[in-house]
Amino acid sequence: MSKHAFCFIVRVCASSYMNLFVMESEFEELKKIVLKCNACELSKTRNNVVFGDGNPNGKIMCIGEGPGYYEDMSGRAFVGKSGKLLDKIFEASGFSRNEHIFIGNIVKCRPPENRDPKPIERETCLPFLLKQIELIDPKIIILLGATALKGLIDPNASITRLRGSWIEWNGRLVMPTYHPSALLRNPKLKRDVWEDFKAVIDKYREVVDPKHFCKNH
Ligand code: SF4
Repeated sequence: MSKHAFCFIVRVCASSYMNLFVMESEFEELKKIVLKCNACELSKTRNNVVFGDGNPNGKIMCIGEGPGYYEDMSGRAFVGKSGKLLDKIFEASGFSRNEHIFIGNIVKCRPPENRDPKPIERETCLPFLLKQIELIDPKIIILLGATALKGLIDPNASITRLRGSWIEWNGRLVMPTYHPSALLRNPKLKRDVWEDFKAVIDKYREVVDPKHFCKNH
């Protein structure tokens, strides 16, 4: 290898490393701010702010509605029954939170009695989610359920009409699907969600890693 080519590679690697370092420190700064946030009414009843979980360098971001009881108590995203089901779906797709996915929510504090977040709460919390998306820079976003779809894309959108079809949003590919809690209430929806995840696997192979391994698809 020529000296010129070697220097070029070192510069590219150093620049990628610096970008990663800047992203990670910005992400940690954002987390510190969010964990202290009192900007909406939900701060009065929460136990913990749930910033999100997974790999912030992953190329897929999953977005749900908001923390439930177990998430509020632990400060971690999707750790209750819905979270366990979601992890099974990830596993069946060859994905994991450690490597491929970061999971967040439309609101980062639990609405009392798991009610839907109010529009004002969604709007107040949205800039945090938008900043997470900017920093994580996912190639694919999976929206879990109606609140995530309405909160990010369009307040009038219907999850039953749009699930399973790709939406282009701010230069990113978005796949709306049902929330895992809907699958717990109605297991017949599992078939639809698996179809949606198969489309995500195909797209991941197309835009991120052609060698992505999934034994089921
Ligand atoms: S839900 Fe969001 S905006 Fe409201 S207090 Fe929690 S972090 Fe802040």
